[in-house]
Amino acid sequence: MPGPATNATRTSTHTDADTATASATDARAAARTIHGATVSEWIARYPKLRDLIDLTPTAWFNDRLAPTAQALPDVGLTVADVDDAAARLKRFAPLIAELFPETKPTAGILESPLRAVPDMQAALDEQYGRPLSDQLPGQLWVKLDSELPVSGSIKARGGIYEVLKHAEDLALAAGLLHPGDDYRTLASPEARAFFARHTIAVGSTGNLGLSIGIMAAALGFKAAVHMSADARQWKKDKLRSHGVNVVEYESDYSVAVAAGRKQAEHDPTTYFVDDENSPTLFLGYAVAARRLAGQLQTFDIPVDMDHPLFVYLPCGVGGGPGGVSFGLKTVFGDAVHCVFVEPTHSPCMFLGEYTGLFNDASVQDFGIDNRTAADGLAVGRASGFVARRMARLLDGFVTVDDDELFRMVALLDRASGYDIEPSSAAAFAGPQRVLKDADYRRRLGLTDGRMAHATHIAWATGGSMVPRDEMAEYIARGEALL
Ligand SMILES: *Cc1c(COP(=O)(O)O)cnc(C)c1O
Repeated sequence: MPGPATNATRTSTHTDADTATASATDARAAARTIHGATVSEWIARYPKLRDLIDLTPTAWFNDRLAPTAQALPDVGLTVADVDDAAARLKRFAPLIAELFPETKPTAGILESPLRAVPDMQAALDEQYGRPLSDQLPGQLWVKLDSELPVSGSIKARGGIYEVLKHAEDLALAAGLLHPGDDYRTLASPEARAFFARHTIAVGSTGNLGLSIGIMAAALGFKAAVHMSADARQWKKDKLRSHGVNVVEYESDYSVAVAAGRKQAEHDPTTYFVDDENSPTLFLGYAVAARRLAGQLQTFDIPVDMDHPLFVYLPCGVGGGPGGVSFGLKTVFGDAVHCVFVEPTHSPCMFLGEYTGLFNDASVQDFGIDNRTAADGLAVGRASGFVARRMARLLDGFVTVDDDELFRMVALLDRASGYDIEPSSAAAFAGPQRVLKDADYRRRLGLTDGRMAHATHIAWATGGSMVPRDEMAEYIARGEALL
């Protein structure tokens, strides 16, 4: 599916604004149309666009939400597909344990802890819980994908899965691997020499590149990572230390992806991982849900209509949170409520779902700059695959400003001792928004009685690989804002 990704730069009004007077710029912006309507006409139709354009933190709870049984077929993937992905990860586990000795204690399965964070819950109540009705009912937990082995972020789910699937496809076709084999055979010099003739490429704001680059290199592939301007220097350095070819762009994520996709197009030995459109990535993320179900069971946490589960997921292009949400819906149905959180400067999924434009518009089309300290979420145009197929399955969309992200980083460090990156901290902005929207809760039958038994999971999507000095700066910046 060729994406319209390059529109992002073409429709930006910022580059020529310097020579024009402010009023001329305003006039031009007012006259510019997006799919046949001016920005003011869009706002008249979709009033919350005003908040998005003004960068005011806001929330929208989805009035197109449908019963899971009705909306799940929209996705075009099934429980059997998630089973298949889980089984593939299991086949690869012995090889992973050999390549990454730190995964031996979990026999090569990459999974993250689920932890109750009562002290963080108390800290959030203290910070935001006035009046008392704004205090969070139920229990707050954190899913620490920040601690996922190998690459320290949620991308260790989808990104690594897609590399493994590609390696399996190639090795089976080449007769280097047969169904039922011990996959450790793929660490043989013969297999590595074979993989070395193939390249895996990806466009990334950082963490996806890290996951794909590290795993591809570990198997012996050549790897090319096309990095947007937002990518942190340490992520590029780390990849280069693994022998990955890092190509840097001065533009945003959509441009890096488009460049990577184009370069791979004409090279049959290069496989491009398409973060904007990949069902494979999506399924890798979806496996998380059944593992989470096991963890909830371990803690004796019921999930049903009287014990609702809220999951708050930081969203960039949407693949990670979309895949996890799909998995959650297959497991918990209507009892799970998935809420996506994005930076005020990069609300691409909010914009796409709210307006029904999906990936046909970028935040830049509406004059929003896609500049945020949350590098993992700095995406101006949503995944069309996720936006279109998950439109009736997601409960809500929330935006949060960058200062708030740093406050959350500092609060979590202070209250619970977990250190996460700013993108990841977006999850903690979700719960207050659910509390503030009584209409949404009423519509879904989320009574006070049910809310009292709710489980809230903030999905902490990344952070353990952030260098210590950089993490200390994040925390200090947040502390100064508290
Ligand atoms: C990539 C990323 C996300 C969001 O995942 P998408 O698939 O881009 O929506 C969230 N948090 C972190 C830390 C990430 O790296």
